[in-house]
Amino acid sequence: MHLRGGITSRIASSLPTASTIQNMRFACAAGAMVSWRPMCATTSHEEKKRNRLNLKRTTPLKRTPFISIPKPPKGPRPKKCKNRACRTSYIPDPSQPWKDWCSVDCGTVLAIEKLAKQKAAKEKSERAEAKRRKEQGMSIRERLAALQVLVNRYVVLRDKDENCISCPMPAHYDGAWHASHFKSVGSNSNLRFNLLNIHKGCAQCNLFKSGNIAEYEKRLRLKIGDDRVEWLKTADRSRVYDHDYLIRFSIIMRRKIKRLEKRRGSSS
Ligand SMILES: [Zn+2]
Ligand SMILES: [Zn+2]
Repeated sequence: MHLRGGITSRIASSLPTASTIQNMRFACAAGAMVSWRPMCATTSHEEKKRNRLNLKRTTPLKRTPFISIPKPPKGPRPKKCKNRACRTSYIPDPSQPWKDWCSVDCGTVLAIEKLAKQKAAKEKSERAEAKRRKEQGMSIRERLAALQVLVNRYVVLRDKDENCISCPMPAHYDGAWHASHFKSVGSNSNLRFNLLNIHKGCAQCNLFKSGNIAEYEKRLRLKIGDDRVEWLKTADRSRVYDHDYLIRFSIIMRRKIKRLEKRRGSSS
């Protein structure tokens, strides 16, 4: 089908000629920036001017007059009632801005809670003070006994998932568990608080078989290694403890017990 001469000539004039394409190729080869618009599609200066005049707005834009809308006056912001059982939102009285409750009933509940809290805090501080006074007046013998209780408690807690160190008594045995010394307190006071020397043992082994030492040593070698067992066997025999050491060690043991109890509580 033949197109009319006028249209064909217009289409032909908008298509790139062979020489224009050749020029574009050269430009690409030279590394120049090539726009996506073909070079033949560039419009002349007069044409651009004409287009701009055609697009020019004839009627001017009307400016919208600025009207300020007055904001509503700020009132007191609503508050939430502090009473945990209530938690209702309410508008506070501006003359009593400290009030945290919505009604007289909630105020009474909060006052009772506050008093109870104050009483508990006072009792706690009094107990701590009494304990401190008692500890200050303790003799070495009392301190040694108190620290041994703490260390034993720590050992039983540490070895919670282990069998008896001196017999095959399983960890889930719900009888009494003791902290059994490998080197006894009487024979080696230097090791009485040493955590390598103390392991969890059943009451039968600890009380009636004197720790069942032959079996204890066998299992201890498997648990902590031969070198440490040899060291325990040859360690210094006696030691004199002073107040400072016992106080410091007690603090450390309390901290260790607390940490272990927390870990055990979170894991179980
Ligand atoms: Zn309330
Ligand atoms: Zn046992």
